[in-house]
Amino acid sequence: MNAEIIAVGSELLTAERIDTNSLYLTAQLNDLGVEVTAKAVIGDDRERLAGAVRAALGRSPIVILSGGLGPTEDDVTREAVALALDRKLEFHPEIVAQIEERFARMKRRMSEINRRQAFVIEGAQVLPNDRGTAPGQWVEESGGVAILLPGPPHELKAMFERQCLQRLRRIVPAVVIRTLLLRVTGMPESDLDQLISPVYKKYVNPVTTILAGNGDLQVHLRARCATVGEAETLLAEVGAPIEALLGDKIYSRDGDALEVVVGELLHKAHATVAVAESLTGGMIGERLSSVPGSSRYFLGGFITYSDAMKIELLGVDPELLAHFGAVSRETAEAMAAGARRRANSTYALAVTGVAGPETPGDRAPVGTVYVGLADAEKAVSFHRQFLGDRPRIRAFTAQMAIDLLRRKLLGRP
Ligand code: AMP
Ligand code: MG
Repeated sequence: MNAEIIAVGSELLTAERIDTNSLYLTAQLNDLGVEVTAKAVIGDDRERLAGAVRAALGRSPIVILSGGLGPTEDDVTREAVALALDRKLEFHPEIVAQIEERFARMKRRMSEINRRQAFVIEGAQVLPNDRGTAPGQWVEESGGVAILLPGPPHELKAMFERQCLQRLRRIVPAVVIRTLLLRVTGMPESDLDQLISPVYKKYVNPVTTILAGNGDLQVHLRARCATVGEAETLLAEVGAPIEALLGDKIYSRDGDALEVVVGELLHKAHATVAVAESLTGGMIGERLSSVPGSSRYFLGGFITYSDAMKIELLGVDPELLAHFGAVSRETAEAMAAGARRRANSTYALAVTGVAGPETPGDRAPVGTVYVGLADAEKAVSFHRQFLGDRPRIRAFTAQMAIDLLRRKLLGRP
């Protein structure tokens, strides 16, 4: 079943106010198994809003409006929905009595304009508001429903949970939603999609979405079925070939972040790691140490930005640095070996590269990155040429370095 949301309010069309109600409502509807297929933000204009309501009800059986139920002249949702459905507005004195009573509890008198809030669309059910003055309305129309909710988020949430959930459950077919989340790294988003789209494109259910950011990819499969068994069978049917195609590019199936996965692998192997960071300036250490319990395997790091620090803290040979340059395979390996020796760890990761935006002197181009990985036997290094701005290059580098350690721990560097 589909739904649409209309956020009402001219202030939501400015840069000052953002429509958050629709995000809350979308999450709630999704939990019920209802898909939100369109959202709109409409200013305080009766005719325009009526047009939007008519169009939405023509497409979707559930239309939720938020806002525009206040007492002032610019609050036009009641009138607009009445216009859209060609129904009258009826005055309900008992609503005035409730609003007056609310004001009395605050030791204040109700303003005359609050009477506007006592108009109910012909045939609508009134949804009481125990957190504000504006009651909501539930209006059924030829198999569909328009739900009018107040704009203030705390009022809308309480009304939705107390008045709407039960009613919606009665009209929404019971569905079970199960999701499969694969976290993937080590390939560009376009390669990932090219690889797996032949599988998922054959299915409208589950819905497959790919999210990407800084070298970290997520494949979400959302199955909507009548029973848990059906949903799980469907997820397995579509998930298995996708997992087979991605192989060890998948680093987690339960939502765990890359640094959590690496931490578990280190802990299981009774191994430790240290880091030496040049262009990432501590980002790798930050990620590794963000995991609770990381003190069991993360020994520490060296932020060695200058040549002098690489020599001083890591024991990199000055002649090697002078000969190959700071951004080189040799330096990355020497940094990793040095960090491992000084920290006395099982492994060490080291990164050096050019984050940009300027290319200093005669060195490598912006985005050139070397990652070194040392163990007791030797140090190896990997080269990448990343594109993009400074934050992106740094984030990609940290991701790649942590993933390199994961691959090493899995025995496939
Ligand atoms: P209204 O019911 O239109 O008088 O809205 C009352 C107040 O609720 C507004 O001033 C906003 O602060 C807030 N509000 C209205 N619509 C939204 C929305 N879609 N998301 C978040 N806040 C809202
Ligand atoms: Mg408003």
